Amino acid sequence: MKPNTLLQIAKDFGSPVYVYDSEKIKFQYNRLTSAFGKVKHLKLNYAVKALSNISVLKIFNQLGSGLDTVSIQEVQLGLKAGFKPEQIIYTPNGVSLEEIEKAAKLGVQINIDNLSILEQFGTRHPKTPVCIRINPHVMAGGNTNISVGHIDSKFGISIHQIPHLLRIVENTNMTINGIHMHTGSDILDIDVFLYASEILFDTAKNFKNLDFIDFGSGFKVPYKTGDIETNIEELGKKLSKRFNEFCKDYGKELTLAFEPGKFLVSEAGYFLTRVNVVKQTTSTVFAQVDSGFNHLIRPMLYGSQHEIINISNPNGRERFYSVVGYICETDTFANNRRINEISEDDILAFKNAGAYCYSMASNYNSRYRPAEVLWHNKKAHLIRKRETFDDILNNQIEIQI
Ligand SMILES: *Cc1c(COP(=O)(O)O)cnc(C)c1O
Repeated sequence: MKPNTLLQIAKDFGSPVYVYDSEKIKFQYNRLTSAFGKVKHLKLNYAVKALSNISVLKIFNQLGSGLDTVSIQEVQLGLKAGFKPEQIIYTPNGVSLEEIEKAAKLGVQINIDNLSILEQFGTRHPKTPVCIRINPHVMAGGNTNISVGHIDSKFGISIHQIPHLLRIVENTNMTINGIHMHTGSDILDIDVFLYASEILFDTAKNFKNLDFIDFGSGFKVPYKTGDIETNIEELGKKLSKRFNEFCKDYGKELTLAFEPGKFLVSEAGYFLTRVNVVKQTTSTVFAQVDSGFNHLIRPMLYGSQHEIINISNPNGRERFYSVVGYICETDTFANNRRINEISEDDILAFKNAGAYCYSMASNYNSRYRPAEVLWHNKKAHLIRKRETFDDILNNQIEIQI
């Protein structure tokens, strides 16, 4: 999006504010679809947890996407946004049998990731087809915070437990209609991903009634200059070919599914903040913005480096700044960053603010969560109001002391 458009949005809607560009979402969706153009049945299920605003979900519905959900509330949001139950896959981890039964009753595709629940669910609902989440024990990416397929991970059913799994399926007479993996959040090495896929194909051969194989996600997008991103086009070429071969052997045209979050929405998002104070200390120049990890926690939680641009002074002289927040806690967004000269009241735009930003925001320090704006058809639409003091008090009960 153009700096001037963003600046105008900050003027019209105040700060801090999240802005999402629907064109970019569409572009990424089409890019992924084209990369797998050779697969007869492709299904993209957008991972709701990345950015769960109902208006954003409606864009995905219009694009023909399905949804990947991890809680019953996300399922309900998806249904409310107009998705049909059969377009939604529910992939929880560590939730109760009761919640899974609730989701099954709503008619969504159930994905189970542990043997205990599989045995209980299969015993009680042998007629409901179930997908199983496999842990292929493959490490994608180097950061253990965001790799979920490796040996110590809490996610998925270990491939070493397949014999036990098969016994449960046989004893309960349940139907397994899908095989799933989600190996982590950073696929850089396509060969590692293809290796994990082979494990999935091997597993799939054990089940005769499959409709789909779900390869999860973990597509990497660039955050800062020099970052490498997943080569989607190359992955598309190689995996499509292998998938089509597998389908031939299997004797049925299965659906190839993915469930990307970050890839589809990260780069569509901008987080606009206002500079409250420029503070020169003996060693550093701090730019303090009207936000903190209550609104954007990824830099502190994952060490993510969101590019920051001064849209109020895009041609100013570049200087070094540490950009920090206003909450009473260390909340450093960026250290020693080269940014166009910053004055108080300037608007700083954080890039890659579409995925896991607003959806991880909190009320820490009793601050309001920001507004959200969707840039759609060349117009800015408010899609979530900024919170007010009533929201802070809501659900609090004041007792007689
Ligand atoms: C979070 C999640 C995703 C999306 O991951 P991204 O890295 O955002 O693409 C996909 N599948 C499951 C099961 C998830 O939990």
